[in-house]
Amino acid sequence: MGTRQEMAIGIALQTQVLKTCPVHNQLYYVDDQPSDDENVARAFAVAVELVRQHRPYAEEFHHDPHELTDLLSYIIGAAPASCPGCVSQRQPPKGEGAPAPAGA
Ligand SMILES: [Zn+2]
Repeated sequence: MGTRQEMAIGIALQTQVLKTCPVHNQLYYVDDQPSDDENVARAFAVAVELVRQHRPYAEEFHHDPHELTDLLSYIIGAAPASCPGCVSQRQPPKGEGAPAPAGA
């Protein structure tokens, strides 16, 4: 993963647009809350501010906030709506639906 992606993902995580599954270490898009659009708007605002005011971001994105916001929207759009690992766990194969015995 490149520096640009890391920077964009860092912003998305910071603004809670994306989350990382603690079990599978998988990024996913958080769309189960009414403040969803608000978070995305804030992520873009943070991105613009970082490119304007913070040298590492400015250098990485050539002082053009749009390069970062474009990447951000791409990453948000590409993220799954929930952790694929957790989703597959919630739908166990047929015949394994019974809970495991609690033990002696
Ligand atoms: Zn997971």
